[in-house]
Amino acid sequence: MPEFQKKTVHIKDPAKVEEIICGLIKGGAAKLQVITDFDMTLSRFSHNGKRCPTCHNVIDNCKYVSDECRKKLHELKEKYYAIEIAPELTIQEKYPYMIEWYTKSHALLIEQRFQQDKLEEVIRDSDIMLKEGYETFFDKLNEHTVPVFIFSAGLGDVLEEAIRQSGVYYPNVKVISNFMDFDENVDLAILGGYLFVQSIEKGAKHACAGAVAEDQKRMSWNEDGRRCSGPETPIQPDQQWDRPWDTSGGLSAALQNAVDKPLIPGVIKGFKGELIHVYNKHGDALRRTEYFSHLKENSNIVLLGDSLGDLVMADGVSVENILKIGFLNDKDLEIDSDPTSTSKTDSLNKFPTDLNGQSAIRAHDAVVFQIDESLEKYMDLYDIVLVKDETLDVANSILQKIL
Ligand SMILES: [Mg+2]
Repeated sequence: MPEFQKKTVHIKDPAKVEEIICGLIKGGAAKLQVITDFDMTLSRFSHNGKRCPTCHNVIDNCKYVSDECRKKLHELKEKYYAIEIAPELTIQEKYPYMIEWYTKSHALLIEQRFQQDKLEEVIRDSDIMLKEGYETFFDKLNEHTVPVFIFSAGLGDVLEEAIRQSGVYYPNVKVISNFMDFDENVDLAILGGYLFVQSIEKGAKHACAGAVAEDQKRMSWNEDGRRCSGPETPIQPDQQWDRPWDTSGGLSAALQNAVDKPLIPGVIKGFKGELIHVYNKHGDALRRTEYFSHLKENSNIVLLGDSLGDLVMADGVSVENILKIGFLNDKDLEIDSDPTSTSKTDSLNKFPTDLNGQSAIRAHDAVVFQIDESLEKYMDLYDIVLVKDETLDVANSILQKIL
């Protein structure tokens, strides 16, 4: 395969990889399933030399999160990311700190009262991007109805919307991640006004239900739950369609009466289900078991990940052949991208200078050494390692042979 000749591709045992791929080809589409991480695996690590955001970064850096909150989130990141990557600590030792980190940062997001109906815009305005070749990847897997399991310690709402906006959220894709829980009734408290129904023609394209805020501005939602006019639309005094509405059952219930399926853009009140963090990817036993119990026949697995924590994603799944593809990203770039952390130059200057003061050169060597060291580790654990590869070319070329 010509894609294997790319200089990003590193394979420790080519004979073993060949044997696995032969097994995958033999099983074909019927036996195949894909188990994949999202952040920095399906999504890009960088684009044009600029770091791309993770799911959490998208929300943390959006305009609906206050600067003060952002600062606190970055402080948490400084503290806990150091623990996440600390080589002297075991995963068991890191585990409680990861829970602490997620719990604290999620609590901050809840304090921000982030609104569900802002998701679409926030993701559209962000730099989150799928890796090059994602269309082929998702299209091909969908065409052959190969199950794709996305297992992410990021934010499910964000990654789902990112995939949806890329036009590849097909029915063969299943996501297990941290999903925000939005309170459907909060808006009533915010509005404090009365409700109106503009059009209750069921099934009508522009059926609209809404509420009138105390400040006499109109908020309304169309039937798929998207806000169709913002609070900036003032009410015209002569508009006759306003009428009091029975709010005894809350806004949600009132709107249920009004249109077929009004999804009220609510405010975040928590997170659903069991927390998934970077070191418990074999966790969330219930949802995993439920999903994989239907896929016993799909014992040929292509696993995609970018961290060592991703290697356990297929634990407990029945496996005949498994091909593990790991993306090894340029961690140096990660330091540079965080606006609150030290710049690349600063972090390089932390390395001891030699007698000639050539810290940058020495530091550069140290960084290269670090990547080499983890490359060795990655090559021991992943069958194929892709260093600084922002494409799905290798995965696609393998799928091309199988399907
Ligand atoms: Mg990842």
